[in-house]
Amino acid sequence: MFDYLIVGAGFAGSVLAERLASAADQKVLLVEQRDHIGGNAYDYFNKDGILIHKYGPHIFHTNSKKVFDYLGKFTAWRPYEHRVLGSVDGQLVPIPINLTTINKLYGLNLNCSEVESFFESKAEKIDRVKTSEDVVVSKVGRELYEKFFKNYTRKQWDLDPSELDASVTARVPTRTNKDDRYFTDTYQAMPLHGYTRMFRKMLSHPNIKIMLNTDYKEIIDVIPYKNLIYTGPIDSFFNYCYGRLPYRSLEFKFETHDAETFQSTGTINFPNEHAYTRITEFKYLTGQKHAKTSIVYEYPQAEGDPYYPIPRPENAEIYKKYQQLANAMTNTYFTGRLATYKYYNMDQVVAQSLSLFDKLMQRQPEKHVNGQKVYQLHS
Ligand code: FAD
Ligand code: UDP
Repeated sequence: MFDYLIVGAGFAGSVLAERLASAADQKVLLVEQRDHIGGNAYDYFNKDGILIHKYGPHIFHTNSKKVFDYLGKFTAWRPYEHRVLGSVDGQLVPIPINLTTINKLYGLNLNCSEVESFFESKAEKIDRVKTSEDVVVSKVGRELYEKFFKNYTRKQWDLDPSELDASVTARVPTRTNKDDRYFTDTYQAMPLHGYTRMFRKMLSHPNIKIMLNTDYKEIIDVIPYKNLIYTGPIDSFFNYCYGRLPYRSLEFKFETHDAETFQSTGTINFPNEHAYTRITEFKYLTGQKHAKTSIVYEYPQAEGDPYYPIPRPENAEIYKKYQQLANAMTNTYFTGRLATYKYYNMDQVVAQSLSLFDKLMQRQPEKHVNGQKVYQLHS
C-alpha cells in the first residue's frame, strides 16, 4: 500500500514526492505518462552532445530564498541573467523596453528622467487596468504597444491582448534605466548540470517508486494507495464534465548549427515577423562550451501538449467549477500549473507544492526515523 500516489513527475509532483518521502517517511508511487521525469523542465543532450530543453527554454529565477535553498539541496547553480532582444523596425533592441530601447528605436539620446517624461507623454489614461492591452497602453502608449506587444501576443495566444487578463503582459515590465535583464529577481541561476540531473537527485530516495510511460488512469484501480496528488490538467481529471479548459500549446523546431554561436543573446523575440515568436540559443542558458550550437524556434498552436493556461475571465469561471469539485474531494490534492490552471513559473510551482506539503503535515507530534526528525501525517 502506497501512502501517496502522485500523478506527474514535473516540479509539482517531484517536490511533493521528495518532501513526503524524505521528510515524512511516506511511501510514494510517482506515475508519469511521458518516458522521462522533469515535466516540461526536462533537458537532455541531443545527438550533437548539446544540452537542450525538450519543451522550450527554461530559465530559473526567483525572489524566494526558501525555494532557491530547497532546490539547492539537489543541484549546484550556475549564475545566469537572461537577456532578450526584440526584432523591431529592422533593429535588435532590448526587451523589456528600457532607456536603450527608446534611444535606439527613435534615434534619441534621452536620460532616465527624460525617458520617463517620454513614456508619460505617450501613455493613455485608463481608469481601471483590466486587460493585457490596458497594462501596456497605460504605461508606454499605443505605438510601442503595437510594435512590441500586440502582434507577439496575438501569435502566442491567438487572442488580442484586450481579451487577456492584465497579468499576461504585466510579466514584462517597462524600465526607465538601462537594465536589460529579462528578470530582476534576487536569485537568477541555472542548475549547473541541468534540470534532469536535479530531478534525478530529488527523486532518488528508497521511499519513491517511479512508473514512467503510464497514464495514472491505467493503474489507479489496481494499485492501492491512501492519498492522491494530481498535477495534470484538472479538466481531464474530471473527464471534462464542465467542458474543456483551453490551454495553449507550442511546436518546437530545433536546429544545430556548425558555428560556436548563432545569435547575440539568449533569446531574440520576433513580435511582427515570422510564424514563430522567439529563437533561443541554449548555450547562453547552460554555459556549455561546444564547437556547435543548438537553437529552438517556438511556434504557438492550439493543438498539442497543454503548456499554457489561458488567463481570461471566462476560463477562470470554468476553472472555478472544477476547483469546487477538487475541494470537495477527500485525500485528493491538486497542485501545479495544469492542475490549478495558473500561469505559474517554476519557482511558483515549487512554492505552491512546498506549501501543500506543509498543509499535509500535522506538525506534531514529530517522530524520529533513523535519528532524523520526520513529520507525521493526518492519514
Ligand atoms: P508539468 O511540468 O507540466 O508536469 C506535469 C506532468 O504531469 C507532466 O510531465 C505530464 O506528462 C504529467 N501528466 C499529465 N497528465 C498525466 C496523466 N494522466 N498520467 C500521468 N502523468 C500525467 N518557468 C520558469 O520559471 N522559467 C522559464 O523560463 C519557463 N519557460 C517556459 C517555457 C515554456 C515553453 C513553457 C511551456 C513553460 C515554461 N515555464 C517556465 C513554466 C514551467 O514549465 C512550469 O512552471 C513548470 O514546469 C510546471 O511544473 P508542473 O509540475 O506544474 O507541470
Ligand atoms: N510579450 C509580448 N512581446 C514580447 C514579450 C512578451 O507581447 O516581446 C507578451 C506576450 O503576451 C507573452 C507575455 O508577454 O505571452 C509574457 O511573456 P513571457 O516572456 O513571460 O512569456 P513566456 O516565457 O511565459 O512564454
